[in-house]
Amino acid sequence: MQRAHTPVSSSKVNLLSLSEPEMAALVASFGWPSYRTGQIFRWIYQRRARTIAEMTDLSLGDREELNARACIRRTRDVVVFRAADDTRKLILKLEDGLEVEAVLIPDEERLTLCVSTQVGCTLDCGFCLTGTMGLKRNVKPHEIVEQVLSAQDQLDTGERLSNMVFMGMGEPLANLNALSEAIARLTNKQWGLGWSPRRITVSTAGLASRLKDIAPLGVNLAVSLNATTEEQRARLMPAVNGIAPLSTLLLACRRYPLAPHRRLTFEYVLLAGVNDRETDAVRLAELIRGIRCKVNLIPFNPFPGSVFRRPSDEDVAAFQSILRSAGIDVFIRKSRGRDVLGACGQLGNLPDRAFRTLTQIESRC
Ligand code: SAH
Repeated sequence: MQRAHTPVSSSKVNLLSLSEPEMAALVASFGWPSYRTGQIFRWIYQRRARTIAEMTDLSLGDREELNARACIRRTRDVVVFRAADDTRKLILKLEDGLEVEAVLIPDEERLTLCVSTQVGCTLDCGFCLTGTMGLKRNVKPHEIVEQVLSAQDQLDTGERLSNMVFMGMGEPLANLNALSEAIARLTNKQWGLGWSPRRITVSTAGLASRLKDIAPLGVNLAVSLNATTEEQRARLMPAVNGIAPLSTLLLACRRYPLAPHRRLTFEYVLLAGVNDRETDAVRLAELIRGIRCKVNLIPFNPFPGSVFRRPSDEDVAAFQSILRSAGIDVFIRKSRGRDVLGACGQLGNLPDRAFRTLTQIESRC
């Protein structure tokens, strides 16, 4: 077990928290050439430096000057739970002691990282553990990026992240500014993490009026539909349906400026006996008819205390085949990491003991 050893003065600027203009201003305040902005960022994001001393292409004097005023305050308190299927759930302790979760999901040739945008969630979807926590606070841009840096630290030799999904704790569109800033740093090729936006997917429970703000980011958009009537959606996802009812959400989806060769993803959590009947499948096909899209079916992942049940594999397959015969591309999301509560809808605080009994391996770094 390793803990933070370097005492850092909290009065120092955390370089991780700076946007590009803020870093440029800091660089200018030292009287340094502007290319130093990219130089410092590259150390932080591309080489994952944890100290200014590591920035060996800055002179010793410059490093000392920078060190007097700034630091790289990466969290070292990352607890990792590894599931039998190699899914890894990372719990990062933030500066104020709150925790945020990210999940590494290996699947054949893919290695997907699922990241969180809020501690808890603004919304209250009844089938989601995070939704039962309430909102503690929004995650800051650098705390989103840190989830990625920490996940990279956890990779086994030969592993490489291939995809990123904003489907962890929280509602990304309720924290849009931080989301956009984090995506800017993740996708910047010169000094950032160099991700192609095509490999990034942002998932929303349906804040309809904000869908349009995702398009300019160039990332993929997934919409969690989960219901096929207003009444059903109001019951399952009361907060978000109060903000934008199903009809408004679908209209926003139809108007979404999809780039050529792209399509929307609709997610649909299947809850046994609630929204998984033949009539639901038929209605779903009708609702999304004509939208360039695919559908991901997510059989419900239970958590202690939840009132919903996971449908049988046969019922899931029957639902899928109805959509398929309506000409829709439809996939069943495999559930990964359920034994560490790392699957969809299972992120969030449980009483410690309940969580530990579900945990197989714990490591701390
Ligand atoms: N707030 C965003 C992202 C987080 S949830 C959103 O709602 O899209 C990510 C996905 O997990 C959503 O599609 C959500 O409907 C689904 N989900 C939530 N709880 C679940 C559970 N217990 N089992 C299966 N899927 C769940």
